[in-house]
Amino acid sequence: MADTKVLVFCEVQRGRFKKGSLEALSEAKRIVGKAGGGSVVAVAVGNGVGDIAGELKAYGPDRVIVCAPDWLEGYNGEAHGRIVAEIAKSEAPTAILVTATLDGKDLAPRVAAALGVTIATDCTAIDSDGDGRLSVVRPVYAGKAYATIKIADTPQVVSLRPNSVPVAEAEGAAAVETVEPSFGAGDLRYTVKAVNAAKTEKADLTEADRVVSGGRGLKGPEHFSILEELAETIGATVGASRAVVDAGWRPHADQIGQTGKTIAPTLYLGFGISGAIQHLAGMSTSKCIVAVNKDPEAPIFKAADYGIVGDLFEVVPALTEELKKLQADG
Ligand SMILES: Cc1cc2nc3c(=O)[nH]c(=O)nc-3n(C[C@H](O)[C@H](O)[C@H](O)COP(=O)(O)OP(=O)(O)OC[C@H]3O[C@@H](n4cnc5c(N)ncnc54)[C@H](O)[C@@H]3O)c2cc1C
Repeated sequence: MADTKVLVFCEVQRGRFKKGSLEALSEAKRIVGKAGGGSVVAVAVGNGVGDIAGELKAYGPDRVIVCAPDWLEGYNGEAHGRIVAEIAKSEAPTAILVTATLDGKDLAPRVAAALGVTIATDCTAIDSDGDGRLSVVRPVYAGKAYATIKIADTPQVVSLRPNSVPVAEAEGAAAVETVEPSFGAGDLRYTVKAVNAAKTEKADLTEADRVVSGGRGLKGPEHFSILEELAETIGATVGASRAVVDAGWRPHADQIGQTGKTIAPTLYLGFGISGAIQHLAGMSTSKCIVAVNKDPEAPIFKAADYGIVGDLFEVVPALTEELKKLQADG
């Protein structure tokens, strides 16, 4: 159907588009193709985004809309929500895609509320039924089951879990259009004064392709150094269970699970983690799960693709050494 029109909010962090947004853009392109036609409109918001908006063309949108007021530095939920809703009102898309990042989880409901429509959050798959409308898959009951749902409202507002779909480059020569918001900085009810982000070169847990995660089996914060070394070897980001975070061994930003971050990396390696349902809720959609636990009955083994019953203090150094050898051999 030719009337499918998907508007994709493309999130910027530290002057770059987030990988999750490129995934959403690629997925929108695929869905529109499957629906038999239509268009994809990329939307970028914030001071300076005009300078990088051209990068989005490589993922095949039909148009790129930029709203870059000079008073809007970084993410402001109120401003971003109002701007995306204004663009949606004038563009009248059939669907709006946002990535389920921290900012995206804030933005998507604001946009849905402003438009008076319902929302499907943290989806792990999106498809088109051939009628131009989306059906989405989302985990329910803390990841114990998956529901396939179809939103009846228009536009269908959907947030997509990062790392759920691949990034695909596509031919594209979309023009970059600029729009202005109908309001100014003085109309906002709050402003963001500062963002204290952790200074790290590593990929954020939610976007990391590989994650090395540690639980209470590590026995103390000092032993996380063996996981750091393994992570360094394979270019992974380190995460943790809540037990570890509650004990103050790792910062809260490292927590994976129902009350932490939801991740879907290509590879998840869990060491000394029992696999409580609340932890599984945050990582069970990882593509390959490897668990190391000395208890053969640990629930994590039910979710794992590969498991080693053993002492992590023996397994981790041996694994790191073998991986280093493999890398040295090219
Ligand atoms: C409302 C609520 C929300 C929650 N949210 C989260 C959440 O977001 N994320 C989360 O992770 N948890 C969450 N929890 C807590 C969750 O229920 C578990 O308590 C927690 O995940 C346990 O962490 P753990 O696996 O590190 O520790 P434990 O359950 O103590 O498990 C440690 C594991 O290490 C193994 N082990 C010990 N020594 C070794 C060794 N030398 N080598 C190998 N294995 C070893 C043990 O066999 C054991 O399986 C939540 C709980 C509640 C009630």
